[in-house]
Amino acid sequence: MLVSQILKLKSDDGVVTLPPGTPVARVAEVLSARRIGAVVISPDGKQLGGIVSERDIVREVGRRGSTCLTDTVESIMTAKVVTCTRADNTNDILQKMTDGRFRHVPVLEGGELIGLISIGDVVKARLSELSMEKDALEGMIKGF
Ligand code: AMP
Repeated sequence: MLVSQILKLKSDDGVVTLPPGTPVARVAEVLSARRIGAVVISPDGKQLGGIVSERDIVREVGRRGSTCLTDTVESIMTAKVVTCTRADNTNDILQKMTDGRFRHVPVLEGGELIGLISIGDVVKARLSELSMEKDALEGMIKGF
């Protein structure tokens, strides 16, 4: 399955972004309120500045305690983000996630943010493909 197909299947309304300078506590609030695992950091909702996930916050709270909550998100986000395009295949995305040990990949088009794929989206797409393959194979066997 292609990334473009996953984006079409996703019911949510775009990517949740926060601007640089946002306090870590506000990031945690948004992750909690939106029930998501990562937020893209962007000055305008299009340009990619970084990504921050719940893991970054937990790691920093574990290291330094709650004082990190008043720092700005730049101090804990990942600035070098692995991205994909609409034309990428879910198997390639899964490989990138496995190699890089992360669960979120922003989708860019013409250098601008157009979506975000999570490992949950990829697993859902693979399960649906496997189910279709199973039905097709069963159909072929019953047809003999
Ligand atoms: P995650 O598994 O997505 O919660 O993220 C695990 C770690 O990888 C965190 O430090 C994130 O900031 C970082 N991370 C998440 N997504 C990406 C990505 N697409 N490219 C690079 N790093 C990422």
